[in-house]
Amino acid sequence: MKKRGGIILIIPKDLQIYCRKRILRRVIPCMIFISVFATVLTLWGTVIFNTDNTAFQILCYIVVMLVPFVITGVPHKLIDSTYYGTVKKVDIITTTDNDSAVKPTREHLYLKNTIYLSIEQSDGKLIYKKAYSGKARLQQNINAYNEGDLVFHLYGTNNVVVLPDANDNSVHCSVCGSSNNIENDKCRTCGHSLIKHI
Ligand SMILES: [Zn+2]
Repeated sequence: MKKRGGIILIIPKDLQIYCRKRILRRVIPCMIFISVFATVLTLWGTVIFNTDNTAFQILCYIVVMLVPFVITGVPHKLIDSTYYGTVKKVDIITTTDNDSAVKPTREHLYLKNTIYLSIEQSDGKLIYKKAYSGKARLQQNINAYNEGDLVFHLYGTNNVVVLPDANDNSVHCSVCGSSNNIENDKCRTCGHSLIKHI
């Protein structure tokens, strides 16, 4: 249960468990790596980094101990939050997908659409969130978000789902994003509870 601006957001139990599992799935491997690396350094650190330069040795230790964080993406991949609110503005930004240096430079093939939403939360606070990113030529989700839509994002997922209004007969799963009949309570793809209203 999360209190925000006087309105209480009740997240179904199975979704809460899902969020907790997402966190543990990143934190536990990180902890394991840290303990393994620390053990190796404690036992064989002076053998591996055999030098008289203490400052250099400390630097090597620090670099080694940073590796688990780089591998597991903790903590930056854990930075997310569950939020909901009304869409005030939709920005679709088309850019060249040059995230990777190894990709060919045929730019037209790799144009990317990124959808950003300005969302007004129940306490009146405006937040700016990335809702979708994908190949521009697929034209996916171009009309998925409109001003006035009530949207919801669950911690750790890649989806920002539009909650159904009175005229809708389908509801999108906040975990996997698939479309479900409005009558359903559980997602037919992943089995998680469907959020229909807040
Ligand atoms: Zn689902």
